[in-house]
Amino acid sequence: MNREKLKNHTVESLRDLFKSWGYPAFRGTQVFQWIWRQRADSIADMKNLPQKMRDDLEARSEIPSLKMVECNLAADGTRKLLIGLPDGENVESVLIPDNERRTLCVSTQVGCAMGCTFCRTATMGLKRHLEPWEIVDQILLAEKLLTSVGDSREISGGPSQRSKVARRLTNLVFMGMGEPLHNIEGTIAALKILTSSDGLDFPPRRITVSSVGLINEARRLLDETGVRLAFSLNAPDDERRSKIMPVNDRFSIGEIMEFVATLPLKRKERVTFEYVVLAGLNDRDGDDMKLVNWLRPIGERLKINLIPFNSFDESEFKRPKLERVQELQESLRRHGIDAFIRRPRGDDILAACGQLALDRQKN
Ligand code: SF4
Repeated sequence: MNREKLKNHTVESLRDLFKSWGYPAFRGTQVFQWIWRQRADSIADMKNLPQKMRDDLEARSEIPSLKMVECNLAADGTRKLLIGLPDGENVESVLIPDNERRTLCVSTQVGCAMGCTFCRTATMGLKRHLEPWEIVDQILLAEKLLTSVGDSREISGGPSQRSKVARRLTNLVFMGMGEPLHNIEGTIAALKILTSSDGLDFPPRRITVSSVGLINEARRLLDETGVRLAFSLNAPDDERRSKIMPVNDRFSIGEIMEFVATLPLKRKERVTFEYVVLAGLNDRDGDDMKLVNWLRPIGERLKINLIPFNSFDESEFKRPKLERVQELQESLRRHGIDAFIRRPRGDDILAACGQLALDRQKN
């Protein structure tokens, strides 16, 4: 008999499940709180449940957890985690300390179907969607790591310093392996678990979900979760975007801009555009003005992150010169677009998305 994975349920669906098993709904809430608030990894730990009920739950359900396969620390304090799934597949998470922030970049799929030509994960193709618990458990693993080793600043301060620093992550970005909105059911369920006040109680405004531009699913995501949204733009015109991102043939730059223009954003809320700068491909003379023409009409609704490409061996693309990226940033800013440069992190630990998992797969 397949045992029910209790971690795959939102608090609402766990209440429904318990009712269907003949228990009062509040038992579902209690179990949800044990798993996500108390981080219980066995049913035996759930002391406020009657023994008979615990025996029954042991027989028909399970609380799975992810395993850390490898953890690489970069000189800049970034940690890349290779995570083992129950079926033997691997995904990656990246833990990025930055001043007071501790951000985790999480994966939502094993591989990816979107086929972006600059992306290492794309070369794997899509193997499968992650289940909701496999997304949320990446956060638990990273917080366990923070508890045991602290972040890079704590290590230099020694154990006494370590105990003073918060163990919790401050920000989450869904920008690891996979397209989160292609796995819309898993992503939404994971976000509901993460943001539930009975669960991890993570503030939705501190979670950003990044998409290549699946705007139908993006609408649903925002309606159901209230998290922040990012779109990867990566080219100043449709011709070049279609070449490096096949999804552009389904959702063009104009359609994405129109979508952002009509979003009911709250005060101070903005959509992020990501722009991976590929030397000679999307940083040519005149590309700044093409971008300005797209972005200026909705300038107050967005910010754009310019990300120098993190090259890898088989890639046909090269990292741009920093001065070139700075010129692009300055030009965008002169035209009223809030543009930032995201410095590449963890260069020395194969931090390009998908690199570790793919190397492991080849081995
Ligand atoms: S960049 Fe993101 S969406 Fe595109 S192939 Fe890579 S993982 Fe998938």
